[in-house]
This record gives sequence, structure tokens and C-alpha cells, in this order.
Amino acid sequence: MSKFSKKSLLLALLVLLVTLFSACSSEPKELVQVENDTFILGTRGQIRVFAATEKKGNAAIDKAFTKIQDIEDTMSTSIINSDVYNINQAAGTSAVKVSPETLEVIQTGVQFYETTGGTFNIVLGSLIELWGIGKDWQKVPTAAEIAESKGNIDIQQLEVSGNKVMLKDAEMLMDLGGIAKGYAVDEAVKVLKANGIKNGFVNMGGDVYAIGTKPDGSPWYIGIQNPIIGATNAIMRMPLVDRSIVTSGDYERYFEENGEHYHHIIDPTTGYPARNELVSVTIISDTAIEGDVLSTSVFVMGLQKGLDFVEGQEGIDAILVTRNKEAYVTSGIKGQVEILDNQFKIVN
Ligand code: AMP
Ligand code: MG
Repeated sequence: MSKFSKKSLLLALLVLLVTLFSACSSEPKELVQVENDTFILGTRGQIRVFAATEKKGNAAIDKAFTKIQDIEDTMSTSIINSDVYNINQAAGTSAVKVSPETLEVIQTGVQFYETTGGTFNIVLGSLIELWGIGKDWQKVPTAAEIAESKGNIDIQQLEVSGNKVMLKDAEMLMDLGGIAKGYAVDEAVKVLKANGIKNGFVNMGGDVYAIGTKPDGSPWYIGIQNPIIGATNAIMRMPLVDRSIVTSGDYERYFEENGEHYHHIIDPTTGYPARNELVSVTIISDTAIEGDVLSTSVFVMGLQKGLDFVEGQEGIDAILVTRNKEAYVTSGIKGQVEILDNQFKIVN
């Protein structure tokens, strides 16, 4: 090979390498941050994404909110002709055909009744309606009324057969308020991903899922709300990538009467709002549906049982905050939780 042709070969190689290199490192177009929020599923829904263009980001967010609205329209207790409305109307009379989504949520709810020792119960509607927390008719029921409603929460009376659902007890009511929001977050995330979103988050009133990292590769930091009534700051935060974080607390929906605090998380055993040392429970898990269900049920379990339960669950972690402003963090996330409000302490 002549010196010349060697040289030109080298040059050609160099050109090729430079071309290849610039193709690999060609700066991906700067992503734009797009955010929207709306009142949906009885709460503030917030979605933030990073997308190639503002138009693409907005289109993905709109589709995700449409999906959440569809879920509300099929699973709400109060929207006329929703699946759950129809199931409740037909209680004691007939089985109702439901959508595959409703079926999935109901079946998941039944499984969680088993895993949580009955602290999570999707047919608690008679008690939930009786208390009416957050509704115009909220009141402290009489002990007799509570005893009566407690007679209508036996999940054995819920019959699922094929795509049909029936409440065999005519006084029983289904309420998916402790599970549908988490399901909606997971479904919204699927819609966003299908529309090309790789970085962002969905926040449905404290039920959060972080998609990927921030565009610069750093994790999302999700704050945990101060459970003290009236406070609006975040008391802690933790990094999150492709995971969910969901908080339930006694400060979210409640009323006060004669100095007593009555909130929206009902202990099926007593028929009263769960009363123990806890003020909030945060669950970190791979899906928001697990987080939604378990934040509610671990709150019912209380501090020690709740901690033991979470430690026994694969892939689930939790932060339990007590009335004394003490936080208990499970082993899988030790060292990841950062205190932002020094009134609160991690004690374990
Ligand atoms: P969350 O705000 O996620 O804790 O869910 C609370 C909602 O779940 C309430 O507003 C009720 O609709 C419902 N709920 C309350 N207590 C329970 C329970 N023990 N099991 C299942 N659902 C419940
Ligand atoms: Mg919940």
C-alpha cells in the first residue's frame, strides 16, 4: 500500500469516527418542561413532564387526564351509572356487568383485604356513608348506627363471577375511595409512557409516581406533607426514580366535634375513624395502587403492627409519623429520608 493511500485510509477512518462520535453525542434536543393541573377524582391532579415540544407534552398530559376522568366516571360512588353506582343500586337484587378496569380494581381490593388482615375493605361503604366525612351530612353517628352499619361490611357478601359483580347484602355499599386514586396514577403513568414521556411525575393529591429521573439524570425529590393541621410545608423528602410514594393522614379530610377529631380513615373493627399514635403513613412502592391501599390500611394497623407488616412485605417501604412528631422509617429506605422541618425526628 502506498504512503498516500495509507494516509487517505487513515483520514477516511478519522472522518468516520468523528461522524460516528458526533452522531452518538449529538445533543438530544433540549427537553421542555410542561405542567398542568386540574381538579379530578375529588382532589388536585398535577402532572409534570419533560417532552420534545410543548405541544407533545400537553397532548400527553391531556390524554393522561382523560384516562383519569374515565376511571372516575366508572369507579365513583356518586356519578350516576358508574360501575360502582350500579353495583350499589343493585345490592341485594342483581349482579352488574362491569368494565375490565373496574373488575381489576375490585379483584385487587379483595386480595388486599386478605393481605392486610381485613384492615382494607372495599365494601366499607355503609360505614363511610354513615360518617359522611367531608360530605354535607357528616356527623358523629350513634353507637347503634355504627353497630348496624358494621353488620353490612362482610366481604364474603361480595360476589365476583366473570365480569359481573354483586353485593348479596342489600345494605352493603362498595367504596373504592381507598384504591381508585392509586390505580388512576398508575394508569396515567402508562398513558404518559406510551406517549413518549421518560421524565416526569403524576401527583393525585399526595399519591405520586415519579417517571424516570429528572432530565439531567438526578432523582426526583418528593416531599412529605406536614401532618399538622393548617401547616403546608414538607417535613421530609426522599429521592425517587420509577417508584411511587403515597401518603394518607388524619389531616386530609375530617371534622371536629366537642374537641374530638374525626377523620376519613375508618377502622373496620371499631367502625370509628382509626385512632392510634399515627398522624400519617407514607408508602414507597413500585405501584401507586399498592401505596394507596397500604397507606390507608397501615394507618388502621397503627405504629407497631404497621411497621411489622411493611417489613414483611417485599418491595414495600414506609415512613410512619406519630402525633409526637416522631418518624419511623423501614429498613429498605434507611438513610434516604431527609428531614426538612426540625420539629420532626427520625427515631429508629
Ligand atoms: P386515603 O385518602 O387514600 O387514605 O383513602 C381514604 C378513603 O378510602 C376514604 O375516603 C374512604 O373512601 C376509603 N376508606 C376509608 N377507610 C377505609 C378502609 N379501612 N378500607 C378501605 N377503604 C377505606
Ligand atoms: Mg390511600
